[in-house]
Amino acid sequence: MLTMVTNCSVDELTQPAETTAECITAKLAKFNKKYKPDQHSDKGIHGLQVKTWHSEVYTHFVMPPAIMTMDSGDIGYQFVCKLDPSKYVTHSCMDKSTSNLICHVNTCSPSTSSASTPSVSNYSVGQF
Ligand SMILES: [Zn+2]
Repeated sequence: MLTMVTNCSVDELTQPAETTAECITAKLAKFNKKYKPDQHSDKGIHGLQVKTWHSEVYTHFVMPPAIMTMDSGDIGYQFVCKLDPSKYVTHSCMDKSTSNLICHVNTCSPSTSSASTPSVSNYSVGQF
């Protein structure tokens, strides 16, 4: 049965609580094989990864994202929202899923959160 996911629980669904050490090791092995961190710096890997990002979801964020350290100690990226720079989404460099980014894009609506644009303002067109 397919259920529409309307909230931000996507990560919980794709990453069940039983994220075992084995699972993380497998992920790390895959990551190491692809990006060879022993040959590339974090910045180098970052550059390689940015090139693989073709999803439209990334256009919502300031590119390239800043490199930061996650709470878990992993290297992650900080995707700052272009529409609302006070908002950002963090994303582990090993996590290929864009679900948290998509989740932000879906919930990001600065047009409703910011003050509504005054339709007829004090500025009259052609007054200069
Ligand atoms: Zn946004």
